[in-house]
Amino acid sequence: MKIGVLALQGAVAEHMKLLEKVGAEPVAIKKVEQLNDIDGIILPGGESTTIGKLMKKYGFDTALQEFSAQNKPIFGTCAGLILLAGEIAGQDWNHLGLMNITVQRNAFGRQRESFETDLIIDGVAEDFRAVFIRAPLILGIGENVKVLSEYNGEIVSARQGNLLCSSFHPELTDDARMHDYFLQMVIEYRGQTV
Ligand code: GLN
Repeated sequence: MKIGVLALQGAVAEHMKLLEKVGAEPVAIKKVEQLNDIDGIILPGGESTTIGKLMKKYGFDTALQEFSAQNKPIFGTCAGLILLAGEIAGQDWNHLGLMNITVQRNAFGRQRESFETDLIIDGVAEDFRAVFIRAPLILGIGENVKVLSEYNGEIVSARQGNLLCSSFHPELTDDARMHDYFLQMVIEYRGQTV
């Protein structure tokens, strides 16, 4: 199963390593044409404003919207979650606008710019070591969105059909269970692509 990692900016190599660990074939995606060769894609952490600008410049904005419309799975981590969101608090525009979620960027404030904690993630793990770095929070969810994980009562991971997101960085530990969950989504949706 070929799974891409959008390689415009951010934590690309770490995701590729864990995809390999779960038995997928990782591909660094730098050109829109490459989207035709993969069954799913990860949008990594980094700086959402920068990645968003590059996405637009290279045509990934409309190409990824089409990718999703074909029922191909997309997993956004941290900045990638912001790219997927339909609404970004305090902004009147979004990037891909694919998920019915409202996000708050840099939601944990300066005191807690980065931290680690153990999370329960529905269908994934009871004890997932999650690394948060200037992380966004999901303030609210809309239709067809399922909450997978909460931290202190706030939503930090969710799924909407073929779309998956996390506030934290699942690629920064050796734990590949979140990547395995995404691989299972890709396998599940493969027969259903339109
Ligand atoms: N703070 C970043 C943003 O708003 C996200 C941080 C990250 O991906 N680690 O885009």
